[in-house]
Amino acid sequence: MTGAPIKQGGSCILTYHSLDTSGSVISIPPKLFRQQMEWLAATRVAVVPLGRVRETTGAVAITFDDGFHNFFEHAAPVLQEFGFPATVFVVSDFCGGANDWPTQPRTPAVPKLELMPWSELQQIAKAGISIGCHTATHPYLSRLNAAELEEELARSRSAIEQRVGMAVETFAYPYGDATAQVREAAGRHFQLACGTRMAFLSADSDLLDLPRLDVYYLRSRFWFHGLQRPYGAAYVAARGGLRLLRQGLIFKHP
Ligand SMILES: [Zn+2]
Repeated sequence: MTGAPIKQGGSCILTYHSLDTSGSVISIPPKLFRQQMEWLAATRVAVVPLGRVRETTGAVAITFDDGFHNFFEHAAPVLQEFGFPATVFVVSDFCGGANDWPTQPRTPAVPKLELMPWSELQQIAKAGISIGCHTATHPYLSRLNAAELEEELARSRSAIEQRVGMAVETFAYPYGDATAQVREAAGRHFQLACGTRMAFLSADSDLLDLPRLDVYYLRSRFWFHGLQRPYGAAYVAARGGLRLLRQGLIFKHP
C-alpha cells in the first residue's frame, strides 16, 4: 500500500523499552530495532532530539523507558552508527539493579531485566544520548501525596544530574499516569514530559503530556513504515482509541 507522506503534524515520538527476544509486551528484538533504524535512515526521515520534534514536520524522536542494560548493548551502537539522537528515561533508585520496583506486576508477561548502572549511563551520555528522568522508584504518581510526589521528581532529577553530570530537562510519567496535579509538579522540574497516549504530535500537544507511539504496536514492518503514510496515521488513531476504550477513559475524555 502506498500514499503521500503526511504533510502536517506527522511528527511523532517513538517509545521503546527493552531490546530482547522474549516477545514480551515491553520487548522488541534487537534485529528488528536495527531494521527500523535502517528504514528511518533509508527513507531520510528526520530523526531529531526530543526537544526539537515539535518544530520539525514529519520528524521522529526516539525514546527508551526504564534504562535497560540491553540499551547499552544493542541500541547505543546502532544509534551511533546512524547518528540518531535518543533519550533514555531512567529510574534513579534502580540504576544498576533490575526493573523489580514495587508497582511491577508479578506476572511472566513482563520479564525481570537488568538496568544500566551509572557507569554505563555516563558513557552513553558522553556519546550524545540524552538522559531523562522516569522518577526514583517508578510509582503511580497520582497515588502519592504532594510531598511524596515532589520527592520522587526532585530526588531523581538531582541524583541523575549529580551522577551523570548533565542537566536533566525531560521526564516520562511511569504508566503515563499524569493527572493535572502531577503535570503541574513535573512542569516545575522539567521542560517537557512524555506520556503514553498513542498519537502523533499536533500543534496543540501538551508539552507536559506529549503523546508517543509505543513501538510494540508497530512491530510489523507494514505498520512501522506507516509512520510516514496516511494509513499509518489512521492505524494510530484507531489503536489509540482502542487503548483509551480499554482503559475506560474515552468516556471521561471524549
Ligand atoms: Zn517505565
